[in-house]
Amino acid sequence: MTAFIPPIDNAEATVAQRLRLSSTGKTPFSVEFLPPRDSAAEARLWRTVRTFERLDPAFVSVTYGAGGSTREHTARIAGEIAQGTTLLPVAHLTAVGHSVADLRAVIGAHAEGGVRNILALRGDPPGDPLGDWHKHPDGLEYAEELVHLVDECGDFHVGVAAFPEGHHRAGGLAEDTENLVRKLRAGADYSITQMFFIADDYLRLRDRVSAADPEQGAKPIIPGIMPIISVRSVARMAELSGAVIPAAMLADLQRAAGTGPSEDVDAVRAVGVEIASLLCERLIREGVPALHFCTLNQATATCEILDNLNLASRR
Ligand SMILES: Cc1cc2nc3c(=O)[nH]c(=O)nc-3n(C[C@H](O)[C@H](O)[C@H](O)COP(=O)(O)OP(=O)(O)OC[C@H]3O[C@@H](n4cnc5c(N)ncnc54)[C@H](O)[C@@H]3O)c2cc1C
Repeated sequence: MTAFIPPIDNAEATVAQRLRLSSTGKTPFSVEFLPPRDSAAEARLWRTVRTFERLDPAFVSVTYGAGGSTREHTARIAGEIAQGTTLLPVAHLTAVGHSVADLRAVIGAHAEGGVRNILALRGDPPGDPLGDWHKHPDGLEYAEELVHLVDECGDFHVGVAAFPEGHHRAGGLAEDTENLVRKLRAGADYSITQMFFIADDYLRLRDRVSAADPEQGAKPIIPGIMPIISVRSVARMAELSGAVIPAAMLADLQRAAGTGPSEDVDAVRAVGVEIASLLCERLIREGVPALHFCTLNQATATCEILDNLNLASRR
């Protein structure tokens, strides 16, 4: 007999609840969207949102730009998702270029839009993400402080970033793990990882957090999965995030891309889907709490992976 699972109002739901409430016994999944730059991108985004709505993700997240015009769209899009769909939105928020007063205003806009789940991040320096970090004179230095600030601002549920290969500014994996544990102790309910391609990097992170603090180690660490749809763009993203693409994987992708002036997109996507499906299969066997897909606002590759994994429960 299937246990009765009471429905949860999206305005009150939390990511942690959604992960616990999978009625199918399948590993839950979530997807990440980027705020659109123009009206054509916005129309594409909404088509993608509606495609995923039919597949019943545990939650969807909306990123926050490193600066510039897309930032203001995050609160609007997350609010429209909260109010106009059956999806649970998580809004990313960074401390970049913001005073504490600015951050309070963005958090207030989320409350008004019915968005109660926030991913609290420090962000990277605008322009050169690998350049020197300077906090806003009246702002925050670290994501841990943003976790506290969001918490102070009302009834929010907070997640944070995690780094299977260590954050590039941390002085090693031990320091990186201490930082994640601090953010969880500050009140974060879960973390979502940076993209990675080697399952063992994720598993070692999970072990490190559990060893450092079993209570915090019990909180979900959701693996971030990047379905590769362009060799050029994933190589750039890997350079910026510090994620290692194993040489054999890169060679397969480059072969698929071909030697023409533009990549063979279908062939690259097919290899990317296979790489991600194999990674996810291993992670599911290892009991991950969910899989979080960075869609870049394109549904096809993620849907193909979900089909391979038999994870999409179509409404
Ligand atoms: C799932 C996910 C989603 C993301 N979404 C976005 C997004 O929407 N927009 C965006 O701009 N960026 C995003 N990022 C990128 C993120 O902002 C960067 O990776 C950033 O460099 C680190 O952010 P953080 O929140 O982990 O920072 P922090 O946790 O503050 O860590 C930053 C660095 O400071 C160190 N540190 C922290 N606390 C201390 C301390 N007390 N003393 C000394 N050192 C300390 C850490 O070890 C680390 O090296 C995302 C990353 C992930 C993994």
